[in-house]
Amino acid sequence: MEECIFCKIINNQIPSYKVYEDKDYLAFLTIMPINPGHTLLIPKKHVPYIFDLDEKTLSEILIKAQKIAHILKQAFHPKTNRIGIMVAGGEVHHTHLHLIPMDYDSDLTFTRQKSASPEELSLALKKIKDNNF
Ligand SMILES: [Zn+2]
Repeated sequence: MEECIFCKIINNQIPSYKVYEDKDYLAFLTIMPINPGHTLLIPKKHVPYIFDLDEKTLSEILIKAQKIAHILKQAFHPKTNRIGIMVAGGEVHHTHLHLIPMDYDSDLTFTRQKSASPEELSLALKKIKDNNF
């Protein structure tokens, strides 16, 4: 697990823009967002593939996703009024859910990811904090 970038984020060895954290889960802004507010939700337990999660974690993570989706919707008011969810797991082998404020249904494709500047990420995080806490 030492080389896992998400485990390093969990352990604060790599800084991140944290949206939500509790003892078992962490949500943070991806540095390659499709839209502003694009968040990754991960279990703190290192399990590479979502369908290898134990049943408790698998169900709990969706309940956490709901909580974060409310937070993102409140902050970004996407045009569809929805937060999209995607799971692929190809790049980082630590289970993660993509939660994406959706302006259009066609937003949900990884080909639309582009890197965000620290300023853009700080602004997105500020929007989340200002609208939810
Ligand atoms: Zn990991």
